[in-house]
Amino acid sequence: MSVVCQSLTLLGATGSIGGSTLDIIARHPSRYRLYAVSAYSQVDRLIEICQQFKPVYAVLGDESQLEECQNRLKDLGVSTKLLFGAKALEQIASDEQVDTVVAAIVGAAGLPSALAAAQAGKKILLANKESLVMAGALFMDAVKRHNAILLPIDSEHNAIFQCLPIQPVSQSVASACDKEGSFSLSVNKQQVHKILLTASGGPFREFDAEALESVTVAQAVAHPNWSMGRKISVDSASLMNKGLELIEACWLFDVSPSDIEVVVHKQSIIHSMVQYVDGTTLAQMGNPDMRTPITQALSWPERIDAGVAPLNLFDIARLDFEPADTQRFPNLRLAAEAFSLGGAACAVLNAVNEVMVDAFLNERIGFADIARFNEQVLYQFKDGETYSLHFSTVDELLAVDAKARDAAKQLLRSQSQTSQDVSEC
Ligand code: NAD
Ligand code: MG
Repeated sequence: MSVVCQSLTLLGATGSIGGSTLDIIARHPSRYRLYAVSAYSQVDRLIEICQQFKPVYAVLGDESQLEECQNRLKDLGVSTKLLFGAKALEQIASDEQVDTVVAAIVGAAGLPSALAAAQAGKKILLANKESLVMAGALFMDAVKRHNAILLPIDSEHNAIFQCLPIQPVSQSVASACDKEGSFSLSVNKQQVHKILLTASGGPFREFDAEALESVTVAQAVAHPNWSMGRKISVDSASLMNKGLELIEACWLFDVSPSDIEVVVHKQSIIHSMVQYVDGTTLAQMGNPDMRTPITQALSWPERIDAGVAPLNLFDIARLDFEPADTQRFPNLRLAAEAFSLGGAACAVLNAVNEVMVDAFLNERIGFADIARFNEQVLYQFKDGETYSLHFSTVDELLAVDAKARDAAKQLLRSQSQTSQDVSEC
């Protein structure tokens, strides 16, 4: 059987998810053609990618390195055309030559291009969970309205997708399609009892509250099971990643936080589960390697080699489960609260958390301060209209994002002033 070659845009090609995706594309050159890529500031890595995959377009963060980078490509005989900036990201995400967009930019910066892919009706492999956290209603509406196909590659959501009876669009049958016939991941609430969202617990799973006050950046980014970018590694350690994933799951599968239970499973072998009303629990298992969920979504409904070793259950021998502790890790509670607050509360929480994680990575605040300050800024906006209004454009949400970042930075300034005052006493 001949395979149709998919034309791909890879947003965030120089990152951790980007690297895993490139590895899969290199394994299957007759199936996947890299049409466009983006990087932010890692020019040398971008040039290597262009040399290897020869995409038509590559996008850089800003104009400053464009000319030099274009000349280097020319000297190497690579004809990739360089573009720069946020509008160019939207352009390569919606280009009519593209079938599939892998959305793997980190943070709020990934929203406009992922949304552009949805509005252009693409197949979207979503790693950038922040798109759904910030703009869930808007994003899901665009997916539906433009008949886009949204497939999760966040490992937990991909596991849930694999445990649900979703059929490919070409065989459009009941469970894959809603009443209007568009593709949907919504769960059938008459059949599904609960979604079990697994969490590794991160590097500080056993630390008490006092020990959490003094952990270092090096400890926080050293995840026990997964190799990931620095921002998501800190979020995993603080359970904010699980909070963001709770919100992501609510939008993807059309459920509420009460339909989801977070299960701490330290081995990261089960990547999430779905419990059905008949007593069945389906789990998706595999070694913790992001190439599995990315490959599953790229090749769905087929299965192809991801370069990942099969599980050796005798080596693993046991699987442990425990409830999540929201006393020591309040970010998970805050995420559920933000989802219930509604409006742009999740966008506020996401923005303040990005500022606080950056401050922690730059050693301006302690690890436990992240959740503490996230809570302060989240509730600072509670009495205004931010959580009661319906936000219908991405610009409105980005304005809230900017306001929340300002409030977070203001809080950081007042904290450093206070500690300066104390040390001068
Ligand atoms: P990373 O930090 O390794 O890479 C981020 C990518 O985004 C890089 O290519 C970088 O150039 C680009 N980027 C950063 N800031 C940008 C900006 N302002 N504008 C445009 N591009 C920018 O991150 P990652 O770990 O690969 O994570 C990417 C996304 O995938 C995140 O949303 C993360 O939550 C999600 N995710 C990651 C993993 C994982 O295992 N790494 C797992 C699940 C979900
Ligand atoms: Mg995940």
